Amino acid sequence: MTQLDRQEWDVVVVGAGGAGLRAAIEAREQGARTAVICKSLFGKAHTVMAEGGIAASMGNVNSRDSWQVHFRDTLRGGKFLNQWRMAELHAQEAPDRVWELETWGALFDRTADGRISQRNFGGHEYPRLAHVGDRTGLELIRTLQQKIVALQQEDKKEFGDYEARLKIFQECTVTRVLKDDGGRVSGTFCYERESGRFFVLEAPSVVLATGGIGKSFKVTSNSWEYTGDGHALALLAGAPLLNMEFVQFHPTGMVWPPSVKGILVTESVRGDGGVLRNSEGKRFMFEYIPDVFKEKYAESEEEGDRWYDDPDNNRRPPELLPRDEVARAINSEVKEGRGSPHGGVFLDVSTRMPAERIRRRLPSMYHQFKELADVDITAEAMEVGPTCHYVMGGIAVDSDTAAAIAVPGLYAAGEVAGGMHGSNRLGGNSLSDLLVFGRRAGLHAATYAAALTGDGLRPPVDEAQIDAAAAEALRPFSAEEPEAGASSEGVVAENPYTLHQELQQTMNDLVGIIRREAEMRQALEKLAELRVRARRAGVEGHRQFNPGWHLALDLRNMLLVSECVARAALERTESRGGHTREDFPAMDRDWRPVNLLCQLADPAGDLAVIDPVLAQIELVRKTTVPIRPDLLALFEKEELVKYLAEEELYE
Ligand code: FAD
Repeated sequence: MTQLDRQEWDVVVVGAGGAGLRAAIEAREQGARTAVICKSLFGKAHTVMAEGGIAASMGNVNSRDSWQVHFRDTLRGGKFLNQWRMAELHAQEAPDRVWELETWGALFDRTADGRISQRNFGGHEYPRLAHVGDRTGLELIRTLQQKIVALQQEDKKEFGDYEARLKIFQECTVTRVLKDDGGRVSGTFCYERESGRFFVLEAPSVVLATGGIGKSFKVTSNSWEYTGDGHALALLAGAPLLNMEFVQFHPTGMVWPPSVKGILVTESVRGDGGVLRNSEGKRFMFEYIPDVFKEKYAESEEEGDRWYDDPDNNRRPPELLPRDEVARAINSEVKEGRGSPHGGVFLDVSTRMPAERIRRRLPSMYHQFKELADVDITAEAMEVGPTCHYVMGGIAVDSDTAAAIAVPGLYAAGEVAGGMHGSNRLGGNSLSDLLVFGRRAGLHAATYAAALTGDGLRPPVDEAQIDAAAAEALRPFSAEEPEAGASSEGVVAENPYTLHQELQQTMNDLVGIIRREAEMRQALEKLAELRVRARRAGVEGHRQFNPGWHLALDLRNMLLVSECVARAALERTESRGGHTREDFPAMDRDWRPVNLLCQLADPAGDLAVIDPVLAQIELVRKTTVPIRPDLLALFEKEELVKYLAEEELYE
C-alpha cells in the first residue's frame, strides 16, 4: 500500500481560474469544506490572460439589449449546436454575475454617465462586453481571490484557522480522479510539483475546472497549463466528452517574430474599429459574409464605417463576424497569395483612433507589439493570422447542475465543460460562462456532498487505485526498463519534449483549421504510434521540480484528448463553426441534431487496470434534446429553416 498524506474535504475543485474560483466560493458559502488545487501558482491561471471582456446583456450602452438577444446571438454563433438550456441560463444569469463581481470589488471601465461600460465584439448584436481596458481577466481573478481571502478571514474569526473551510493547494497537479466500488467519486490523486510528493484529497465531490487543450497544437494562444488534463481525467474516470471536433482558431494571433507566433491579438482591436486588409490593401472581409449572416452585416465600407457612430441605422462591418468566419477568410487570403510578408494579413487600428486613445483602450496590445515585434500599433498595421485558442468540446454535463454524465460526484465548469458554446464560442462568452457555471457547479457539488456526510456515507477511497496511480506517475523514471517477460533489446526511452513536438506538429498540420479525411486518418495513425511511444517517455533526475517529468505525465492527457478531437472531426462530415472540412465545405442541417460523444470503450472497467495505451476510445452519436418552443420563437422562421433539420422543423 502506498504511504502518502491524505486529507478529507467535502468538495475538491481542480483549477483556480475563473470557473474554479467561482465554484470554490459558492461551495464554501454553502458550508462545504472546500479544497482548491491548481498546477500553476495561485493567481496565474489562464483566465488572467483574458483581454476583451465579459459578455452580459446589462444594456448599459444600448438599452435594447436583453437576455433573449444574447441567447439568440450565442445560438447563432454556435450554429445552433449549443446545449440550449446552458445558453439560456448563461444569458439570463450573466448580468447578475457581473454585478456581483462589482460588489466584491471589481473596478470596470465606466460610461460617461458612470455605468459599467460595454464594448462591441464579434457576433454580439449590441455592445455587451464589460471590461477593464484589455486586462479584464486579471481583474476578474484579482476580485475572486480577494473574495476568497475575505472568506478565509471569516473562518479565522470563527475557527481560529484561515484554512478551516477553504484551502488552496498551489503548484500541485491532479493525475487521477478516484472512485469507489459503486463508481462514485471518492477523491483525487495529486502530486506537488516542487517536491514531487504524492498526496490524496478525499472528497465525495470533485469539480473539474482545468481549462482547455491548446498545448496539443503548435500555434496557440494558450499558456503551458492547457494540456487537456480535466478532459482526460473525466474520460479516464468514465465520463464522456462532447463534440470534441469543435476547436476555435482565433483569427488574430501574432505571426511574427517566430518566438511569439500564436500570441493573441484581442478581438477588441476589431471591436474598436480595427480593419483587416490583404497585401493588395483590400478590406477583404466583405467578400466572405456567409448567406446566414447576409442581412446582419454591412455591404459596403461606408456603411460599416457609419455603424460605429450610428449602430441603429447601419449594419455592422464584417470584421465583426463570428471568429470561425474571420479565421477561415484570413486562411483563404493567405492561401491565395494575398498574405502579409510573414504569412498573415494586416490588422490596422491606427487609422481609426488617435494614438493616445489606442494606448488607453488597448494598453496590453500596444506594449505586446512594441516589445515583442517592434511595431507601433498607433502608427502602423499589425500582421495577424489564425491561432488555436479555445475548445468548445468538453465534458458532457447536465445543463442546470454542471454534473458530469455517468459519474456521480463529478462536476465540470468553464472551458473544460462542453455544450454551452455549440460549434463556436462568441468572444466574451467564456468569462461569463465561468462565472455562471462555476457558481452552479460549486452549488450542486456542495449539495451533493452534504447528503453524504455522516458515518459510512462517504464513498471510500480504493487502495488499489492509489497504488496504480502512484505506479503510473512514477513510470517515466523507469521508462527504459522493458515490460516483465519482454526482451530488453531495442527498448529506448523516449524524450517527452520530442513526443510533444511531434504531437503539436501532427495536430497543427493534420487536424487544424481546414481538415481533410486522408489527413485525419494519417493523424490517427500517428497518434496511436505516439501513445505507444509515450508509455516509454523517460526522464532523468529526481522528483523535485522536474519539468520533463511533469510533461511526460501531461502527454497522456494531450494524446487522449487529441485522439478524441481527430476521431470526432473525421466522423462529422460537414463544416460547422470550429470544424471545417475541405471535403464537406457546407453546413448540413441533418447534422444539427447530432452530438458526438467520445468515451472509453470500457467505462466500467476497473480504473486500476486501465492503461492509457490500452484504453480504447469509442465514438457514439447521440440525438440532441429538442430546443424548447418558446426559445425557438425568438427567431424568425426563415432563419430557423437555414439551421434546423427537416424533422425538427415539422416538430
Ligand atoms: P483557467 O483559467 O485556465 O484555469 C485552469 C486552472 O486549472 C489553472 O489554475 C490550472 O493551473 C489548473 N489545472 C489545469 N490542469 C490541472 C491539473 N491536472 N491539476 C491541477 N490543476 C490543474 N474569454 C472571454 O470571455 N473574454 C476574453 O476577453 C478572453 N480573452 C482571452 C485572451 C487570451 C489570450 C486567451 C488565451 C483566452 C481568452 N479568453 C477570453 C478565453 C478565456 O480566458 C478562457 O476560456 C477562460 O479563462 C478559461 O477559464 P477556466 O476557469 O475554465 O480555466
